[in-house]
Formats: sequence, C-alpha cells, structure tokens
Amino acid sequence: MQASIEGEIVTLHTHSSSTADLVNEQVNIARKEESEKHFCLCNLGDIIHKYQRWTTLLPRVKPFYAVKCNEELPVLKVLADLGASFDCACKHEIEKVLNIGVTPARVIYAQPCKQPSMLKFAEQKGVDKMTFDNVEELYKVKKIFPTARLVLRIMIDSEYKGNQDFSSKYGCHPLDVPTVLETAKELNLNVVGVSFHVGSNCYDSRAFSAAIQQSRQVFDTGAGLGFNMTLLDIGGGFPGQLDTGTKFQQIADVVNSSLDTHFPCNEGLEIIAEPGRYMVASAFTIGVNIIAKRIVSHRPNKQDKGTGINRNDPTVKSIMYYVNDGVYGSFLSKLSVDRKYEAKSLKTDQDAALYESSVWGPSCDSVDCIVDSTLLPAHDVGEWLYFPDMGAYTLSSHTKFNGMEEPKLIYYCQTDTWNRLYSEKSYQYNGPNNTT
Ligand SMILES: *Cc1c(COP(=O)(O)O)cnc(C)c1O
Repeated sequence: MQASIEGEIVTLHTHSSSTADLVNEQVNIARKEESEKHFCLCNLGDIIHKYQRWTTLLPRVKPFYAVKCNEELPVLKVLADLGASFDCACKHEIEKVLNIGVTPARVIYAQPCKQPSMLKFAEQKGVDKMTFDNVEELYKVKKIFPTARLVLRIMIDSEYKGNQDFSSKYGCHPLDVPTVLETAKELNLNVVGVSFHVGSNCYDSRAFSAAIQQSRQVFDTGAGLGFNMTLLDIGGGFPGQLDTGTKFQQIADVVNSSLDTHFPCNEGLEIIAEPGRYMVASAFTIGVNIIAKRIVSHRPNKQDKGTGINRNDPTVKSIMYYVNDGVYGSFLSKLSVDRKYEAKSLKTDQDAALYESSVWGPSCDSVDCIVDSTLLPAHDVGEWLYFPDMGAYTLSSHTKFNGMEEPKLIYYCQTDTWNRLYSEKSYQYNGPNNTT
C-alpha cells in the first residue's frame, strides 16, 4: 500500500522488516533496472517514534526541529503534522516551513548573526522569535525589526560539551552578558529569554545541567533589568543514532531534574529545545554501489601509526572499494567532525573470510575516504554496501563537486504508525496520474 506526502510516495509496510531486508529489496530493484544509482531509505515511522518518545520523556520541553539537519519536505511535513515547531537559520528554511503551513509562532530564527535582508523577511512574515549574542546585532534588530522577541544565546561556561563545540563561533561570554542586556534595555528592545547549544552529538548529560544552571543566572540578570523573561531554549545536541536510546533517556532525566531545580513549573514560562540530529539520524540508511576496487599491498594508512602493521609487506593485502557517494555527497561529516562511518555488507555467510578494507568516494580528491579501515568479506564491483544512521547532516550538506549526485530517496513507514498520524483516507495515494 502507498500513501503520498508533499508529492513523495510513501510505501506502507504491514510488518516491520529489518533494514538489511529493505536494502536488499532496493538492490534487487536496482539490479532489475540495471541501475547503479545510490539510494537513501527513509523510515518516516522512525521519526514519528522519535518525536513521540521526546514528548514522553521531556514533557516540559517543546521541540523546535533544527531544519538545517535534514530539510527533506516529507520529514518537515511529518514533524509539522506531529505538532513540532521549527528552528530556522535563514530565509530559505523559514520559507520552507511556512510553505508547508507552519505558523510563524512555531518558528524560531535561531541564528545569532542574521543577514539583514533575511531579518527583514522574518519581519514581513511575522517570525518574531530570534536569537542574538552581541551588541551589533541589537543595533541591526533595532533598525529592521524593533518589536522582535529576542533570546540571548550564551556561551557555555563549563568543561562539559558535545562533540562539535560551537562556542568559538557563537554565544555571549558570561562577562559580556550585563553589557549586552543593558544595551538592549537602552535600545528599548524586547529580550524574552536565554538559549544555548551544548554542541552537536552530546553524550554528557552534565553539559545540559551546567548550561541550564548558567541560564538561570542570565534569566535573573535579565529580570533584574526589567525584562519579562519567559523563554528558555536548551538548544540541540541530543544524540539520535540507533544505539543512543538509553543515552537519550539519561540526558532527558538529567534535563528534567535540572529544569525542576532551576526553572520550577510556573505559568508563563516556555521551555523549548532545537533538536536536529535526535529526530532524524536513525531514520535514514544509504546504499552505495561499488563502482571500482583495487587490491593493494602497499597502502599507506595514517591509522597504522604505532599499530605495527607493515604496509611494505607484499603478503599483506588490503582492498580499496570505490563507491558512488562520498565526503562531497552524504558523508561530509567525515571531514567536518571526523565522524566514523560503519560500512555494512549484505553478505550473510558467517564463515566468509574477512579482508582489511577501506571505502572511498567517487571524487578525485584523496580526502574522499568514507571508511579508513574495516574488515569486510570480499565484494565485487557492482555489489552494494550500506550505511545506517545517515539522516543527520547528510542530504542537507551535499555538494556538486566532481559531479556528485544526490541519492534516490525512498520513503516508507509501518502502516499502523502511519495511520496513527494520518487517517487512511486523507493520505491515500491514487497513482501517478492523480494531480490532486
Ligand atoms: C545545528 C543547530 C541545532 C541542531 O543541533 P543538533 O546537534 O543536530 O541537535 C540546534 N540549534 C542551533 C542554533 C544549531 O545551530
């Protein structure tokens, strides 16, 4: 059975199938079509489960999904229909969520350093919640959007952080907070709250509790200056890969108790967060085609340093696989945050010999390496590998370098999960000729 969302087809499955089964299914289709095109499987049901788990575990914290993490329309639409709000960092993202029917009140323009024309656009559209972290930005806001509801993004003042720290680029230093807030007061601007970002993919719950405590102080400073402080924004950074469910629960527990200590329930206080990775990381799986392969005995590998592996020994063979997606496509995080990717094989023979292997993207650049070293059974050119946990900062950061193409996207969902969100009639897919 099929449904449709934002012009994309969603295949509905009555039973849950393993990711490997679904990848196999696509590989069989590709074989029949004699296609080598890489593909991306998106389980919209996983996003639905993630959202619902968030509202269960963090009942006081309203999620504003960070659009930059994955801006595919069906993803945005499902989240919007679940009731999520959105963190947008530019005009393009604001436009995209408004176009699917999200009201301006459900958007925060979470970019402390805004392009003036985009700020004007936000003003015209009535997107008035926005972050800032410096005095210059206040002068800009005063000129372009003086009635904006401003949220002060602070720099985290603790040793606990996520993997990708943003504090070198954004965030008001604790020592600058009084001056910045006083300037806002002098300009008669409307500061309503505080935000932070602990850094992406944060596994240390102490980062959140320390930042929440720090936010309390800034709240009090703001209130002391006469601002009506009503919004706490605890940012993003929550992990979302397949194996991080328990970790997320621990973080949620710490966040809840920290909120109860420093921001006990009171009317008029709104607590929000900007999860990106959490919502989408595990929902996507990418299948890549092996377009070439080299068997080498002298591959210098930076990871060999100190391991005693001797690449000059001609009896040590290593297999280099070249596939049709890479760091200039869906795997940019390998370069930007040194993320490790795990290549999975579809071969199920437990006794197959394993070979030291590396996986490379299709571009001519030598940094275009997806997996430096792993053990895999032998594969032929034309066979496929796949990568789970490919939903966050993958499709949204694709480049066109060296003719890099985007993967074919395939959406699916389990029927009962889908029907819990959509009545069967409203999203029935009526075939390709139906234009409604
Ligand atoms: C990127 C970003 C997010 C999302 O971060 P995740 O680590 O994906 O949760 C949230 N808020 C801001 C301001 C960001 O820049």
